[in-house]
Amino acid sequence: MRLVHGVKEMQTISRGLREGGRKVGFVPTMGYLHDGHLSLIRLARGMCDTLVVSVFVNPTQFGPSEDFARYPRDLERDKRLCESEGTDILFAPETSDMYPEDFSTYVVEEKLSLPLCGRSRPTHFRGVTTVVAKLFNIVQPTFAVFGQKDAQQAFVIKRMVRDLNFDVEIIVAPIVREKDGLAMSSRNRYLSPKERKEATAIFRALSRVRQMVQEGERRALPLIKVIRDEIVRTETGQLDYAEIVDTKTLSPVEVIDDDVLVAVAAWFGDARLIDNIIIRKDEL
Ligand code: AMP
Repeated sequence: MRLVHGVKEMQTISRGLREGGRKVGFVPTMGYLHDGHLSLIRLARGMCDTLVVSVFVNPTQFGPSEDFARYPRDLERDKRLCESEGTDILFAPETSDMYPEDFSTYVVEEKLSLPLCGRSRPTHFRGVTTVVAKLFNIVQPTFAVFGQKDAQQAFVIKRMVRDLNFDVEIIVAPIVREKDGLAMSSRNRYLSPKERKEATAIFRALSRVRQMVQEGERRALPLIKVIRDEIVRTETGQLDYAEIVDTKTLSPVEVIDDDVLVAVAAWFGDARLIDNIIIRKDEL
């Protein structure tokens, strides 16, 4: 495995790969890798000639009072994990190389970024689309794999790729969970033992919603109330949002009659956790 720090160096390698007709798979991450990330890496590994993983804690997707400074980092560990999964190139750029002091160009998606997490994190998706556009230009992958865990992010990236004609296929991989259902996240390490235990309320609530839909409930309000009640019942949890939205527009639905995303964001202590399920029309 080759470790590349320089943006220019990565771009030169990418040009060679593209000219050599290699199918390049790409998994962008913020590092501190867990089994969720590794599932994306394995999926990509099986589909490409050259596998590039990036580790970059992207400052522009964090708000001023968010956890950029304390976001967990461990490049040595990430390196070992990437190597053991058969990664060919680990790209770990420096912030100053990605964002020179007079950096002033951003990519903004103006519809799907507004609801859900966009409401509580108003500059987040601008940071995401900007860094992903930059990474696509640097790595020039044939395809890139993102996790369903960040469902809104995947929708926003797909829209950006379509609208700006990036020649990259976007693949979305399922959510990997701990044994008790909690979605794996680098941020889970912020949780105290009590918060960690109580955070299982999120997936319990989502599972209950799926069950109620299977039993015939179609109205969004009572389903959302179930999520709210499940979080309220904990001592350490605080709901940011629970919404049921159309998967094409991310607008709230009143009655479920097509594919919907049931999305939750909740604080447990200092950790803002997100999770979701998709309920498909053919399950109704
Ligand atoms: P992050 O390092 O949090 O930016 O995540 C990098 C990629 O891994 C994103 O596409 C995430 O959606 C994905 N990811 C993070 N956690 C999980 C998980 N538990 N299951 C599947 N994919 C995940």
